Amino acid sequence: METILDSLGLTGELSGAGGGSWFDCRGEVLESVSPIDGKVIGKIRCAGRDDYERIASQAVEAFRVWRMVPAPKRGEIVRQIGNALRTRRAELGALVTLEMGKIKAEGEGEVQEMIDISDLAVGQSRMLYGLTMHSERPGHRMYEQWHPLGPIGVITTFNFPVAVWAWNAMLALVAGDPVIWKPSSKTPLSAIAVMKVAWQVLKENDVPEGLLGLVIGKHDEVGEALIRDRRIPLVSATGSVPMGRHVSQVVAERMGRTILELSGNNAVIVAPSADLDLAIRAILFAAVGTAGQRCTTTRRVIAHKALYETLRERLIMAYEQVRIGNPLEDGILMGPLIDRDAVTSMARALKEMESQGGRVLYGGEILTGGLFDSGTYVRPCICEVKPDMPLLQKETFAPILYLMPYETLEEAILYQNSVSQGLSSAIFTNDLREAEMFLSHMGSDCGIANVNMGTSGAEIGGAFGGEKETGGGREAGSDVWKNYMRRQTCTVNWSTELPLSQGIRFEV
Ligand code: NAD
Repeated sequence: METILDSLGLTGELSGAGGGSWFDCRGEVLESVSPIDGKVIGKIRCAGRDDYERIASQAVEAFRVWRMVPAPKRGEIVRQIGNALRTRRAELGALVTLEMGKIKAEGEGEVQEMIDISDLAVGQSRMLYGLTMHSERPGHRMYEQWHPLGPIGVITTFNFPVAVWAWNAMLALVAGDPVIWKPSSKTPLSAIAVMKVAWQVLKENDVPEGLLGLVIGKHDEVGEALIRDRRIPLVSATGSVPMGRHVSQVVAERMGRTILELSGNNAVIVAPSADLDLAIRAILFAAVGTAGQRCTTTRRVIAHKALYETLRERLIMAYEQVRIGNPLEDGILMGPLIDRDAVTSMARALKEMESQGGRVLYGGEILTGGLFDSGTYVRPCICEVKPDMPLLQKETFAPILYLMPYETLEEAILYQNSVSQGLSSAIFTNDLREAEMFLSHMGSDCGIANVNMGTSGAEIGGAFGGEKETGGGREAGSDVWKNYMRRQTCTVNWSTELPLSQGIRFEV
């Protein structure tokens, strides 16, 4: 543990705010606690409103300079940030594991996502394309162009303590925008470590302070200051639905924009022709990976009645093989939940499920003994439920998998779409008609729809996000970069006449 923290310069009391160098914050001391053993791994002096104000002013100043740097040159600096992250991949990945509790491979995978989005953003910096249109007026040229938008606010969750920032920040940087990051108070060290790496690159390139700001503190203090700030034209917020509802209302009231990436409640349909080996491996990874704490975690399996019982028994057998323990150790597939509160909410959900007529088929216990005495380890759980149980509407951020049978594909799609969230979905089938129906207008209503692969583990090349209460936002690849820019339609008259559009005559 000490080696990881030492190698990233995370010892002693750390500052919770800065824009290229650290501020002398005066807020409360926040302790970062590792869910692995419940020990304090870092102390951070939190930012207050004054610190936020300083960061926001720096960002406004940095915007004036950065927007005038040609986009491919901005991309070059992002390339260097990506390379710097590459050289620190192992240490940063281990830190994510230490602070959040996901297994080592997933911690490093998260750092890899930062590297991948940096690479994507470098290419994008030369492809900020606008369209040209033919004007209806003779001697006129019409086109659209994309300008930098301004300082962007990025609010992130504990479960992806660094990748979500990078998905936003790398594109925002090539788009010409400074970024102010408010990370989750459950994972502040990961944010500090990443900032240190990125700031070093900015310093080497003589970029003014304030381009990448960090503000760690109470959400009702610095978070509120950020979302209410009229200087921030776009707030990207990742987290729970109640948080997103509040943030979107506050930002909309001042006519700002939001990208909302909120809760998921994802289902896998297993059709009669499914390759069960594939389906079981995919469900296991998507339901148990990150201890069920991904927004794309599979929470419901809707299996055709012809294979329901076989699938149920084979899933239980697969769950029995999952090694639970210290996520820093090789061979462990599931680490702890983020804290004891998460364990309590899992236990509460299981009770509620039973009171609504469901039953536990496997797991669900809170583990004890040795490392497990931290109170954060559970056995992943499989339950049998009825499709109309109110509990199924809720996302419990824990490894609980609900199984239910179906008879027709229409019925399965109805069950899958019956929840208020709409992030990720999948079908396992070898029947082309079923796959196409699932992907059609009458199929999955989610932002992500997969065939013969699980609901989690999206690649950065596509646009990531979901519908309904998931918030409608999109991050990462495809044309998502447009979110971080303002569109301008320009018409140039190179003739000596002044024709009006729609043939209107207006002459004296
Ligand atoms: P959370 O909503 O408790 O917190 C998320 C962030 O919002 C934190 O940084 C928190 O401090 C901040 N926040 C809360 N109130 C705020 C306010 N008034 N002003 C500004 N900031 C505020 O969520 P969590 O428990 O950290 O994360 C788990 C949730 O995130 C799950 O619902 C999960 O599905 C969701 N999630 C969604 C995605 C996605 O891409 N759709 C990705 C990861 C996680």
